[in-house]
Amino acid sequence: MKLTVLNDVALIKGGAEARVAATPDTVAGYVKAGHDVTVVKDAGAKADFADKLYTDAGAKIAATNTAGVKTADLVLSITGGNEKLVVGMKKGAGITGVMSATDNPKFAEACAKAGVTAFALDYIPRISRAQSMDVLSSQSNLAGYRSVVEAGGIYGRAFPMMMTAAGTIAPAKCFIMGVGVAGLQAIATARRLGAVTTATDVRPATKEQVASLGAKFIAVENEEFKAAETAGGYAKQMSAEYQALQADLTASHIAKQDIVITTALIPGRAAPILVTKAMLDTMKPGSVLVDLAVERGGNVEGAKPGEIVTTKNGVHIVGHLNWPSRMASDASNMFARNIKNFLPLVTADDGAYSPDWEDEIIKGCALTKDGAVVHERLTS
Ligand code: NAD
Repeated sequence: MKLTVLNDVALIKGGAEARVAATPDTVAGYVKAGHDVTVVKDAGAKADFADKLYTDAGAKIAATNTAGVKTADLVLSITGGNEKLVVGMKKGAGITGVMSATDNPKFAEACAKAGVTAFALDYIPRISRAQSMDVLSSQSNLAGYRSVVEAGGIYGRAFPMMMTAAGTIAPAKCFIMGVGVAGLQAIATARRLGAVTTATDVRPATKEQVASLGAKFIAVENEEFKAAETAGGYAKQMSAEYQALQADLTASHIAKQDIVITTALIPGRAAPILVTKAMLDTMKPGSVLVDLAVERGGNVEGAKPGEIVTTKNGVHIVGHLNWPSRMASDASNMFARNIKNFLPLVTADDGAYSPDWEDEIIKGCALTKDGAVVHERLTS
């Protein structure tokens, strides 16, 4: 099949994207498998993959995204491109990406109109067979790591305890709120840096995971907590009573913390506010909070998307967007491997582009089929 690697960097204004959906390594594999690969100029430049590495791997270079997608059977992309781009694609072709489809239903409509199949990688079902294709996990893991490293850069003190001739430095106290994929990696990173680490979540399964990473688990462990996990493994929206108990516990704990990383999300809803202005007022000057949920409304009151806000009492709230893009090279490597593992599901035995419409992973992530929007999250 004809594969085109999109220049996502050029599509997203303001340099907000630095990743690329295929690396020279994965491209070499595609060429070896007999596919015809085109990479749009400078697609990997911001992730440390120069065009020459792609041509050495056997790819051709297209001058622009519009030129590159024209004859492609499948376009490999981080973002899924945009409405304007898909109009210029071949009817019957496919495009991959993290599409946040319910936030932007017009994109799926544009794909349907163009006869293009949109494979929303963020909708890939979280079943065991699909773990190696799970871009949400591969990217969240890096976001969790980076959030702690970035907090360490802003924090004016050290993370580990240091006993020197000039005196002793106390270890930083780090609190992770929300122990999903990002939170677990944040705990592991904070521990490696030597911080005294605590963590909280509403799902009971996380208690053991936190302990296994050597951190202390702190939560309101009542009857509601025991039933807070959905069958799909996600958090439920907690009752007002639970939230009040959780806020009391957080308030007494957070005043002693130096670094707080919040990652709490509930699928299909705004992120819960876990750190209020009143709690921020009790924190020490120089403390750093990183709100990884800021794109979905934020866990920290006063967090601003894309900004670092410093409160009157000197507490820094970091609201950066697109954390995986801050680690563009590793994030691209992981993303590219996720797509490589996805590719067999759209490849016929002879190597032609042919999605397997019987496969539950394809059914779970395709937004469009044969000129219509078909995904239940968009049609129901
Ligand atoms: P997520 O991004 O949806 O949420 C992050 C965390 O926030 C979750 O742990 C959630 O319980 C927590 N949270 C929500 N509300 C909270 C509150 N009020 N207070 C404190 N914490 C709160 O989560 P995720 O990273 O996508 O992971 C969710 C689950 O899915 C985990 O169990 C994870 O292991 C699982 N998972 C499974 C697969 C698979 O392929 N089987 C892949 C990835 C993740």
